[in-house]
Amino acid sequence: MRRNIVAGNWKMNNTFEDAIELISEINEIMVSDDTINAEVILCPPAIFMELATDIAEEEETFKIGIQNISHEKSGAFTGEISAEMVASMDIGYCIIGHSERRKYFNESNEMLAKKTKLAIENEIQPIFCCGEVLEEREAKNHFEVVAKQLEKGLFHLNKDEILEAIIAYEPVWAIGTGKTATPEQAQEMHAHIRTLLLSAYGPEVANDVSIIYGGSCNAANAKTLFSQPDVDGGLIGGASLKAEDFITIAKSF
Ligand code: PEP
Repeated sequence: MRRNIVAGNWKMNNTFEDAIELISEINEIMVSDDTINAEVILCPPAIFMELATDIAEEEETFKIGIQNISHEKSGAFTGEISAEMVASMDIGYCIIGHSERRKYFNESNEMLAKKTKLAIENEIQPIFCCGEVLEEREAKNHFEVVAKQLEKGLFHLNKDEILEAIIAYEPVWAIGTGKTATPEQAQEMHAHIRTLLLSAYGPEVANDVSIIYGGSCNAANAKTLFSQPDVDGGLIGGASLKAEDFITIAKSF
């Protein structure tokens, strides 16, 4: 079912004390605020998962996601975290294919395809990121680039499986730069993604999969972005590190 979603990607930020403070602050605001019309997902660094799930389970105000899983099932892969481990901690979401992982950790479409499959097999909803770099947009290749990322990394899932996925359109030139896509640019790409879903899977999937926007989305611009017909929320980086800003974004529907 298509739904409003706001997910916070903390990236590699915050100490244990900072994490306790931020999660508790978000929890406190959410417990006493019944005007939030969105599914709120926090994605702190993996080392804080237990802390986060403990608080999340207590009040059920928000859900918890992890920022990455291994493309391998299990075994001799030092430092990696498997989808099965994540599922065993009752973590229901995983960011897959973030541009920082594609760029700095050389994650290929083939690896991402394995990750999305493993996530689904373990009942973890993938938040699958796609988006073009500036040169690709300037060369007017952005629609093609996003189509290829989706076809190679996500569209191997069958119809029932893809209904469990969330797609995050994140133009790379907008991530952490303060340069947000205009609402028109976001809408245009989200509508394109919905058309791709329609031709690959049919109308039910095209209508039901949530497509969220990421890239310098903040408390000031979230409302205009989320008011676009095909924008179902946001994947928030920098602004998810301040409880009040993050909650303001979550209330922007
Ligand atoms: C992100 O990292 O997914 C992101 C959208 O970052 P920011 O909001 O800081 O641009």
